[in-house]
Amino acid sequence: MDILIVDDDPITRLALCAAVEDWGFTPVLANCGEEALTILGEDNPPHLLVIDWSMPGMTGPELCTTLRSRDDGQFFYILMLTGKEGNDAIIEAMESGADDFLSKPFDHRVLKVRLAAGSRIVRLEQTLNQLASRDALTQCWNRRMIDELLNASIAEAQRKQSPLSIMVLDIDHFKQVNDNYGHAVGDTALKHMVNILNNNLREYDQVGRYGGEEFIVILPSTDKDSAWGVAERIRSSLQYHPAHIDSERDIPMTVSIGLAQLNHYGQDSRHSLFERADKALYEAKQAGRNRVVYRSS
Ligand code: GH3
Ligand code: MG
Ligand code: MG
Repeated sequence: MDILIVDDDPITRLALCAAVEDWGFTPVLANCGEEALTILGEDNPPHLLVIDWSMPGMTGPELCTTLRSRDDGQFFYILMLTGKEGNDAIIEAMESGADDFLSKPFDHRVLKVRLAAGSRIVRLEQTLNQLASRDALTQCWNRRMIDELLNASIAEAQRKQSPLSIMVLDIDHFKQVNDNYGHAVGDTALKHMVNILNNNLREYDQVGRYGGEEFIVILPSTDKDSAWGVAERIRSSLQYHPAHIDSERDIPMTVSIGLAQLNHYGQDSRHSLFERADKALYEAKQAGRNRVVYRSS
């Protein structure tokens, strides 16, 4: 687990770095609160923090207050390690948002067990987060999370005036898979669908399960023509790669896909964008399934 050490004193920083490395953590170092904020604003930041109180510029409690006031959904467990001592300092640190407090000089064994307790909380938070945002069967995003990601993607596309497309996919005649082979095979087929999606998408595309056998894919920085190419690739990839169940059973499947692109004029929203893609999906079903349909309005 990564651990961010924020301290202006290079000797303390290096001593802490060596100690936490010994205990199996991966240290990340910052020499002031401002540098810590930069590191914590990047992708996949550390979630366990050891921060000093007195530093030039932003103090430890100010860093805690700033982190706790951000509503970016990130969880941080903060241990304040300080030369200050006494109840007043403990109260001030924890009121500013620290989870734990340790005075210097300290016994290294005490820091070790405090960090072990902190890392248990971080892991628990990560498990809860995973349960709240992922679909249990396929591990793609669940409906709540993909809706949030779509809102964020639309806001970003509008800010940058960049294209954004979505596709809504529904497996064709999926009920027959369950009816013919049973629910467990149906579940395997759903996982196969998500594998096909992941194998044909870029890292920053997002896949969510919207309902039973219905999925949504967000394609940032992608206009409708490129999205069409991606959708066709997914459609044909599924058609030519049946879900492999066992040596005797390969389940052929096809998918219908509705496409829509965000309009940068008027009042386009998540609902109107989704509605266009969903109508396109309906048309794909009506037209005979196993096809891609785009709708501009
Ligand atoms: P269409 O081509 O019109 O989409 O037909 P369809 O049979 O795919 O559509 P329908 O909505 O009638 O059936 C969807 C089926 O998906 C019914 C339901 O049993 C199945 N299903 C939904 N969720 C799950 C799941 O989690 N696991 C399994 N195995 N099946 C599921
Ligand atoms: Mg279906
Ligand atoms: Mg359906």
